[in-house]
Amino acid sequence: LIQLSVPLNFIGFIYREIRQGLTDIEHMFDLLDVPQEIVDKPDAKPLKVGPGKVEFRDVHFSYDPNRKILKGVSFEVPAGKTVAIVGPSGAGKSTISRLLFRFYDVQGGQVLIDGQDIRDVTQESLRAVLGMVPQDTVLFNDTIAYNIRYGRFGASEEEVRKAAELAQIGPFIDKLPEGYRSMVGERGLKLSGGEKQRVAIARTILKAPPILMLDEATSALDSHTEQEIQAALDLVSKGRTTIVIAHRLSTVISADEIIVLKDGQIAERGTHAALLAKHGLYASMWDRQREATEAEERLRIARESD
Ligand code: ATP
Repeated sequence: LIQLSVPLNFIGFIYREIRQGLTDIEHMFDLLDVPQEIVDKPDAKPLKVGPGKVEFRDVHFSYDPNRKILKGVSFEVPAGKTVAIVGPSGAGKSTISRLLFRFYDVQGGQVLIDGQDIRDVTQESLRAVLGMVPQDTVLFNDTIAYNIRYGRFGASEEEVRKAAELAQIGPFIDKLPEGYRSMVGERGLKLSGGEKQRVAIARTILKAPPILMLDEATSALDSHTEQEIQAALDLVSKGRTTIVIAHRLSTVISADEIIVLKDGQIAERGTHAALLAKHGLYASMWDRQREATEAEERLRIARESD
């Protein structure tokens, strides 16, 4: 029975995903580890989309009752602003994004969008306002055009091209032998991490959600690719409420507020300059990060000159 229920869950899951027009949620949590189904309340209303303010109000959460993951987390992302979440591995950063998408319900406190508790609205309307650029994008075994259009199936060829240009992947696609009709994915052309992320950015540009969740790649990209991706991300997050799980210095420097999460609580918060001046957890994290990045860069230069 267990063996049978897993694929059935899986198929149900995929079906719901397509129905709800979700983008890239596969990577937000383990597909086969769906704990319980979140269902709409019988009187759930569509989310009334306002300016796009996000609020976590005293949120408590644990995956299993014996281990608390979030212990009273409160923060606000004003409409159009960017909040960066940083913190050690396991601190609960990705958990925050899973709760915003309502893959799980909070056990205490509230998650609100434009003042509405996300448990009171339909999941379809919730996910329509949210966009996600994950660390590692899943590509379908289909053309690159299809993979970009996945952000909004009604998009015209021209819109797909425009999104690819804005996401800084247009020139790369133009150089492929079959251009936008090139097959990608497991059985087609394999794209690099940076290329896949730009496909995800192009999808998000097409979807144009008022609220955006970015999960930056932890792995170092070469500085040219990083600059291109950063430019594309700046463009897509401009004017949108953005929460970013940040690993890059450039992102946190420009964030309106940085939240430093540690052991499920907010240890420090403020702007980059204010947090550096504090010489606390944030300052020491970024010192270490900078040293590591510089060491990697030196290694790369040494390898290239070999
Ligand atoms: P990283 O930077 O390494 O990605 P993170 O800050 O994003 O870490 P989370 O993914 O939010 O951390 O995980 C927080 C804690 O919750 C971790 O200790 C993790 O083991 C645990 N956890 C995550 N997902 C589950 C799950 N589905 N079931 C049980 N525990 C989980």
